[in-house]
Amino acid sequence: MEAMKEAVDLSLREMRETFASGRTRSVKWRKTQLKAIIEMVKDNEEKMCDVLFQDLGKHSTEAFRDELGFVMRSAATALNSLDKWVVPRKSNLPLLFYPATGKVISEPYGTVLVLSSWNFPISLSLDPMIGAISAGNTVLLKASELSPNASAFLAKTIPSYLDNKAIKVIEGGPDVATILLQHQWDKIFFTGSPRIGKIIMAAAAEHLTPVTLELGGKCPTIIDHHSVSKDIMSIVKRISGGKWGSCSGQACISVDYVLVEQSFASSLIEMFKPVIKSFFGENPKESGCVARIVTKKHFQRLSRLLNDPRVQASIVYGGSMDEEKLYVEPTILLNPPLDSEIMNEEIFGPVLPIITLRDIQESIGFIKSKPKPLAIYAFTKDEKLKTRILSETSSGSVTFNDVMIQYMCDALPFGGVGESGMGRYHGKYSFECFSHEKAIMEGSLAIDLEPRYPPWNNFKLTF
Ligand code: NAD
Repeated sequence: MEAMKEAVDLSLREMRETFASGRTRSVKWRKTQLKAIIEMVKDNEEKMCDVLFQDLGKHSTEAFRDELGFVMRSAATALNSLDKWVVPRKSNLPLLFYPATGKVISEPYGTVLVLSSWNFPISLSLDPMIGAISAGNTVLLKASELSPNASAFLAKTIPSYLDNKAIKVIEGGPDVATILLQHQWDKIFFTGSPRIGKIIMAAAAEHLTPVTLELGGKCPTIIDHHSVSKDIMSIVKRISGGKWGSCSGQACISVDYVLVEQSFASSLIEMFKPVIKSFFGENPKESGCVARIVTKKHFQRLSRLLNDPRVQASIVYGGSMDEEKLYVEPTILLNPPLDSEIMNEEIFGPVLPIITLRDIQESIGFIKSKPKPLAIYAFTKDEKLKTRILSETSSGSVTFNDVMIQYMCDALPFGGVGESGMGRYHGKYSFECFSHEKAIMEGSLAIDLEPRYPPWNNFKLTF
């Protein structure tokens, strides 16, 4: 660890010197790096798909959709928008300040730390990096030790494409993260669990460092079957794709559980069965389209959640597990006990509880009784229900009539609230996330109002 401490010291010193040189502030430098990211992904498509397969068993199409393609689009958006984003914004000052003028300029924080997660190890590492570079920062990335092939790939490949005096990658786990967190950074961007998020925030507090925390939680999905009965098959397909077709449910914005009226639950379950079969065939384990659970420890956690006898009794589809292959079958539960662990922890796996309510309006109270989720999904055409969801609940985002797609749309901010995180990124919001908005006031010496200065004996200020 002594060697690691020295490596971190050296990296940090070099990044600070680079930032101080002013090189990363130039738009030309930022654009060169963004182009290099696109080039890196293009040149290494096959290798990236390989590491994602080795770490998570991701199919190359899934890998391209969720990681490679996503990163290239994000870098292209930044590249094409940067000239607009960096322009100082004029502020219209109130008459009181006349004849002064005002503007806001975006200034890079300086040297930033990005700690990323294993479930989308390429995109969750490179996407924040794109934001940090767009804003003109130097950046150090530590990807997750739980996706070691992706982490090693990034550590080896990034230095041969990007400016390695400004952009660095260090591999390692919690011990390395601990060393990194002992240093002073100008911004910390963390993707991971709420538990570790608290450690990050406490470390950042030591230096009053601003943080963005992209955390997780249980994302509910409401199906108001009355108003969407004609579209129910595409709803079942979308939910199935979101739950089982993206890293086997190991996604922060995955559908965690479904809320539906009691009278519709058994029909809904019957609709899921053929859809799952059409996605993964009779034997999903051999389909090549089901990502595996990341580690034995994560598998054992899922297996513990599922092996609760009361949860076992609620299995209505699937339920088989293979520890050697780190495989959990797409599984549906009907009304597992609300006090079971599976209904109180983020599931992060291919298990979908369906919770029944007497009336779908009760879904609002149900969601409000839990911590604020990263996303709420609702399939409904009932405008009153939509309004209630928007005005009575709080979450990072709300998506009507779809799931997970909001993540891909960089015109919208992405981030959590409460236990699901703080701060936001994607598209222009990423640029803002890594910029300090500096207020500039250009005063005038032409006029001086006397009440500014003492003595005030002859003045009385009023509204
Ligand atoms: P994690 O919190 O265990 O790890 C995240 C990062 O923190 C890794 O880089 C890890 O090395 C580091 N870390 C681990 N222990 C540490 C410690 N003691 N001190 C300092 N750093 C430490 O999370 P995870 O298992 O990688 O990811 C799963 C969680 O992440 C889920 O809750 C999920 O919802 C969330 N997540 C959120 C998003 C999002 O964009 N909001 C995306 C993906 C995952």
